[in-house]
Amino acid sequence: MQQPVQIGITGGIGSGKSLICRIFHVLGVPVYDADSQAKKLMTTDGILIHQIKKEFGSLSYDDKGELNREWLGKTVFNQPDKLARLNALVHPRVAADYNQWIVTQSGAKYCLKEAALLFEAGSFQWLDKIIVVAAPDALRIKRVLQRDAHRSKEDLERIIQNQMPQEEKMSKADYIIKNDESELVVPQVLKLHEWFNSMK
Ligand code: ATP
Repeated sequence: MQQPVQIGITGGIGSGKSLICRIFHVLGVPVYDADSQAKKLMTTDGILIHQIKKEFGSLSYDDKGELNREWLGKTVFNQPDKLARLNALVHPRVAADYNQWIVTQSGAKYCLKEAALLFEAGSFQWLDKIIVVAAPDALRIKRVLQRDAHRSKEDLERIIQNQMPQEEKMSKADYIIKNDESELVVPQVLKLHEWFNSMK
């Protein structure tokens, strides 16, 4: 059976990646959510757990073997080198997990891999096409403040500062979905869905 076309979908925090992936999912498209899988693998993947403990110490996990997210979050907070080290451990394990997943999707015409750091982590190079979801910073901040009670405007500004600028992401995209209230999102998704289904 033919291997599905592999489409990456990315965008800055609050751009609307998850919302748009839910629309593709409703259309029957298999979606791999790399950010959720990364969180899951940090508590289920033996190799990754071992590497995190080795790099960050035994405090990274509690007595029950649960990831000490708060502690780890504080440890890497505002320390780009430590965050980069954590990402360097997590990304290869997510890539391995994705590679196992994609071989189970041979019936699909195309699949989506959703990831906030698709460009930053380098995984874009293994994908056939990339969609960037774009929305202005102010709108993204407004939406995330409504979604996440625990986050402040300053937190979000800091996160945006640490992500690849949206303009740069857009310049690397094969397709852009505008989620800035200037265009309806569903017709943009339907148009891409039709296009990907017609790809050879
Ligand atoms: P993250 O990078 O944090 O995972 P994301 O890019 O996946 O974010 P979403 O969670 O899809 O973004 O969207 C952020 C919030 O904005 C959500 O609460 C979502 O429901 C809302 N949202 C996204 N797009 C729209 C829209 N076009 N109209 C109204 N609300 C929207």
